Amino acid sequence: MLASSNMLSLRRRVRAPALLFSFGLATAAALPAQQATTPTPRIERPRLVVLCAVDQLATWVFEQAEPHFADDGGFRRLLRDGAYFPACAFRHACTETGPGHATIGTGAPARAHGIVRNAWWSEGDNRLVYCAEDTVAPLPEWPEGKLRGPGKLLVPTLASSLKAHVPGSKAVSVSWKDRSAILMGGIDADLCVWCEAKTGNFVTNTAWAEQAPAWLLAFDQQRPLDAMFGTVWDRVGKDAAYGGLVDDRAYEIPHANGSGQRTLPQPITGGDTGPGAKFYAQAYASPLGNTVVRLLAEAAVRGEGLGSDEVPDLLCVSFSATDAIGHAFGPESVEARDGLLRLDRDLATFCTFLDQQVGAGRWSLFLTADHGVGPTPEWARAQGVDAGRGLIQTMVRAAGEKALLDTFGPLPEGKRYLAHVGEYSCYFDDAVLRAVATANGRDEVAVRRQAAVLVANAAHKVRGMATAIPNDELAQPNVTGDLLRASLMDALCPGRAGDVQLVLKPHWIDGSNAATHGSPHAYDREVVGLAFGPGVPAGARFAAPITPGFGAVLFARLLGIPVPPAAVDEVPPGLLGTR
Ligand SMILES: [Zn+2]
Repeated sequence: MLASSNMLSLRRRVRAPALLFSFGLATAAALPAQQATTPTPRIERPRLVVLCAVDQLATWVFEQAEPHFADDGGFRRLLRDGAYFPACAFRHACTETGPGHATIGTGAPARAHGIVRNAWWSEGDNRLVYCAEDTVAPLPEWPEGKLRGPGKLLVPTLASSLKAHVPGSKAVSVSWKDRSAILMGGIDADLCVWCEAKTGNFVTNTAWAEQAPAWLLAFDQQRPLDAMFGTVWDRVGKDAAYGGLVDDRAYEIPHANGSGQRTLPQPITGGDTGPGAKFYAQAYASPLGNTVVRLLAEAAVRGEGLGSDEVPDLLCVSFSATDAIGHAFGPESVEARDGLLRLDRDLATFCTFLDQQVGAGRWSLFLTADHGVGPTPEWARAQGVDAGRGLIQTMVRAAGEKALLDTFGPLPEGKRYLAHVGEYSCYFDDAVLRAVATANGRDEVAVRRQAAVLVANAAHKVRGMATAIPNDELAQPNVTGDLLRASLMDALCPGRAGDVQLVLKPHWIDGSNAATHGSPHAYDREVVGLAFGPGVPAGARFAAPITPGFGAVLFARLLGIPVPPAAVDEVPPGLLGTR
């Protein structure tokens, strides 16, 4: 197996494209790290803590955009008055939305929280199961909000800790994506709210609410997204903010308004004559998708009275549109840069809203991301980096199945050795392998082990693959402390993660999105980390490595409640008066 020994070079190579731009946070870097010896006054407990996720915000994307954030923007305020964590990264390899949000909510890696992918193969169900599917009844007002819930999340969230230990507290989680809201909040949250993009309604269901909250019904009746129909998406920043970015690139996916164009400006209409599913779909891949979630978060703060008294509350909010924009146009596109600059303004508006509604100095916020993103392969290749795309996992499936057929012999019509290949894993059909063992008078475990090695070796030869590792091999002691192996282990959850783990080469992607994520490479695991609020030293930069689950630990400490039980982070010296 190639695997482990190559991690150092993987890390060097993933950094390469970022170096083409000026790299590093000029503003924050110039500020001295907080002295651990600074005497700290007793920290006032905030009335509201906010876990804020930006879907798909890699460190390299954030740091390239940083010089262009507005002086009165949200990111500049968080950098100036809060603390930046340049070494914020996921431990787990499965850098997708479901796993990432579960980490943000619970503080745990995927191995512990169990959300190993957005979807995984279930032998029992004989199908892919979705990370936020659940047998939950809808509310009569929102029939479309059915079959969504936190049932697959295996460990408690920060909301669970807050609700169990602070009587009268409230915890609310909102996002465009159902899995983001649901997996950050968890079952003990008072409310999780997400968008059902067919109707454009923001909904919840009976997992959290016995009846529809009046404020949420009113929010939907006001149709705030519909009111933005026809908005023209144009560049919001100065020309310099887009310097070096090319707007019209053949590998971008055209704006979904029928124009067929890949450039700004564009009207956000979905190509329709009025608000409807087509408009909502395009809005989701535009800054409107983030603005409406900001409005939803504000409505939740007002409607639930979050932060309105001395009893602390929790708001989880995730901005999804950055992800849809990044997938369609690539992280080095004009659209992605503009989407971030517009989110910067939405964040500023939201922070000002919290100052007014909750009170300046009475709320805290931790901003991070559910995963990063790799550069568009075509763009990376133009910079001289080995990069490409293909139906890589489809090829792995064919190569793996052939290797098994060649060794174990043909199967009855309709049967396959590999039940599923996807989500960067190969899943055996357990019954088929059992039958092979029985027919040959062999031990089932030995057959599985042999099959896994055969599949891994076959997969390894597929173009675009870096390595394929059987779970058995991952389970061996990681004596060299290899980061790639460790990240794959942190994504293993029995019965969910498959039997052979697949790692694509850096800058190689599977499928037709302009760009994507999901790998253990640094560009996918390393994400933004910003803390703000009482006890957080202004303008500080903490070099200590943290995970995106840090916010759940930070807020538990700040509120004096137990840290969520599966959380892995520590509060570094210099934060919250610790030495
Ligand atoms: Zn994504």
